[in-house]
Amino acid sequence: MADAELDYYEVLGVERNATQEEIKKNYRRMAMKYHPDRNHGDKAAEEKFKQVGEAYEILSDPQKRAAYDRYGHSAFGGGGQGGFGGFEGGFGGFNSAGFDNINDIFADIFGAAGARSRGGNRNMRRGEDLQYEIEITLEQAAEGYETEIQIPTWTKCDACDGTGAKKGTKPKECPTCHGAGTVRVGAGFFQVEQTCPTCHGKGTIIDKPCPKCHGTGWKEERKKIEVKIPAGIDDGQKIRLSGYGYPGENGGSPGDLYVLVNVKPNDLFERDGPDLHIEMPLSFAKAALGGELEVPTLTGKITLKIPEGTQSGKIFRLKGKGIKSLRTSAMGDLYVHTTIETPVNLTKEQKELLEKFDATLTNSEVSHHAPEKKGFFDKLGDLFK
Ligand SMILES: [Zn+2]
Ligand SMILES: [Zn+2]
Repeated sequence: MADAELDYYEVLGVERNATQEEIKKNYRRMAMKYHPDRNHGDKAAEEKFKQVGEAYEILSDPQKRAAYDRYGHSAFGGGGQGGFGGFEGGFGGFNSAGFDNINDIFADIFGAAGARSRGGNRNMRRGEDLQYEIEITLEQAAEGYETEIQIPTWTKCDACDGTGAKKGTKPKECPTCHGAGTVRVGAGFFQVEQTCPTCHGKGTIIDKPCPKCHGTGWKEERKKIEVKIPAGIDDGQKIRLSGYGYPGENGGSPGDLYVLVNVKPNDLFERDGPDLHIEMPLSFAKAALGGELEVPTLTGKITLKIPEGTQSGKIFRLKGKGIKSLRTSAMGDLYVHTTIETPVNLTKEQKELLEKFDATLTNSEVSHHAPEKKGFFDKLGDLFK
């Protein structure tokens, strides 16, 4: 093939003493220009695109570049195209380490395409996320809470040095995907890649698993870590601890740990975001005469002034006695819902006193002493006449 005659420096449009940075920059520019996605059906562009990829594969690798400088194309088995058979088949087929660099750049240029391969091993995968549930009280949610939790952590299995294969054996290349971790479906430059069903994306299979880690390559241990729950957290909210999830595969980053916070219901207070609500019984006499009412809050009791003639169902707002808002940091309010309690189990004497008292009311104007009743009669209007 004529490719064998190509000068890689010329293909990338760089001098022979170009820096790695210049090579990378020019490769990027030319790969963009000749990319098949931008040159639909243009065979010349497709050919150029291949040449550019081939040139970059060699020149981006200092060892290969040195060999090329010394021996030319013969350093790579003679035929330019010969060593790069995988390229034709799409990204899943790359077997040469140098192609990872190409994928890396493609991840930059084309977003998700090839992103799985970034930074090294093409089979690398991010670990799964872990979830841990924690239950706290309303008081702890309001104040913020620090606690230690025990979570699993994973370190390399020392018996197999993380390979998962029994000592003295090695994981072998997966016969289905030949180490790629993926199988290709479809045709053309961008084929659909699927995780290899035999090795589940690892690219290798283990004949004799390590007895200590059962082939996982990981040693699981328990570790205590401190979790800080911020003041104002609400029921069902999660805290993310980056990197505390399951380990990644083949050099992939670990997943995250999510701490799901359940806030226990409180006997006294009902929560509505940053606001709290409490039901307070009020004696009939105190409601009529006015007085002081001790109201519990999350930070201790406070005294609420009850004005004379308070009606049942009246709501008092205690500003700033709720819970800090996680979002705005503003303090919520405490709403005191009063219910006037009808006295029960009265003694004979108490009953007589009440009757006497009631008689004093009936003798005077209804409207004067009973605003609710007055309103009621007003609404009934003509019906009673
Ligand atoms: Zn092991
Ligand atoms: Zn496989």
